[in-house]
Amino acid sequence: MFGASRTEVAVTCRMCHQLYTLAVDMDDFKLWEIERVPVQRAFVDLKGVPYLSDGERELLVSQTCDACWASICSENAEDTGSEQTQ
Ligand SMILES: [Zn+2]
Repeated sequence: MFGASRTEVAVTCRMCHQLYTLAVDMDDFKLWEIERVPVQRAFVDLKGVPYLSDGERELLVSQTCDACWASICSENAEDTGSEQTQ
């Protein structure tokens, strides 16, 4: 719980098929996957501070990585050159 003992889990982006590893506490993972606790509440430390970045949470929830989200957004905005991540 609370990110105390983290295990690396592999997540493949469904857009670019890049394999990513995220370090999550498996108890927290089960909270999210089985108990359906929202990601922003499941993956928090003892102080209630999320220990996964927005991008990492999105990757878990939607299997879409930061880079692909950026390209989706830039497509919508009809923008070019969107390598940047936050
Ligand atoms: Zn991707």
